[in-house]
Amino acid sequence: MIKAENLYFSYTGAAPYILGGVNLELKDGEYVSVVGDNGSGKSTLIRLILKLLKPTSGRIETTAGRIGYVPQRSDAAHSGFPITVREMLDSYRHLLKLKNRDVIDDSLRQVGLSDYSGALMGTLSGGQSQKVMIARALMGDPELLVLDEPSTGVDVHSQKEIYSIIKKLNKEKGMTIVSVEHNLVAAISNSTLIYHLDVGHGHICTPAQFAAEFTGIGLDGREE
Ligand code: ADP
Ligand code: MG
Repeated sequence: MIKAENLYFSYTGAAPYILGGVNLELKDGEYVSVVGDNGSGKSTLIRLILKLLKPTSGRIETTAGRIGYVPQRSDAAHSGFPITVREMLDSYRHLLKLKNRDVIDDSLRQVGLSDYSGALMGTLSGGQSQKVMIARALMGDPELLVLDEPSTGVDVHSQKEIYSIIKKLNKEKGMTIVSVEHNLVAAISNSTLIYHLDVGHGHICTPAQFAAEFTGIGLDGREE
């Protein structure tokens, strides 16, 4: 689904590189959490996956024809404009040139917000507006769903709901998920694989391997 080979990236086109030789191969149907320190290049990596940025050198490719994107939450995105959830999604439907109006109700149903189509965007809680952004990403029926810190700025109850929505899309629809995670517990408990980005490189591991690495306690329970 996604393949990166010797991927280098810097915003200036010269050293220092934010990504310095990333090699990564992801199969269809995985739910991958991308973890790493602040500023390690997680958002940059997903902008490269989305082709919003071009590699400085090396390659990154995806075979997914349809990709949904839930950007890092920013309250600025909804400030001021008194538009309803339906109006916001309908303008996105036009952008995607989708003829079928049912995609709005279908996507709101998938995130459990069927009753909120008439609500003003500005009146939604952090969790609700994040779910609307997930609904928006689902309108194009994506094969690959990319999320950037889906639970940041969201209350604990809504965090649980958001992860259960993502897991359901992965398990029941076979949707491939790439999610940047600030929340390591969420990464360990929800995803099928973890990509740990560290000083320009990264490595893929299972949630159990990552948990062992990050707590310093081995899989056999003994300290290393
Ligand atoms: P993360 O998502 O892991 O916190 P980012 O990918 O956002 O990290 O940022 C990686 C590095 O690139 C940081 O040092 C950040 O300051 C820098 N950076 C991010 N966006 C830009 C940009 N548009 N122009 C220049 N530098 C940027
Ligand atoms: Mg980021």
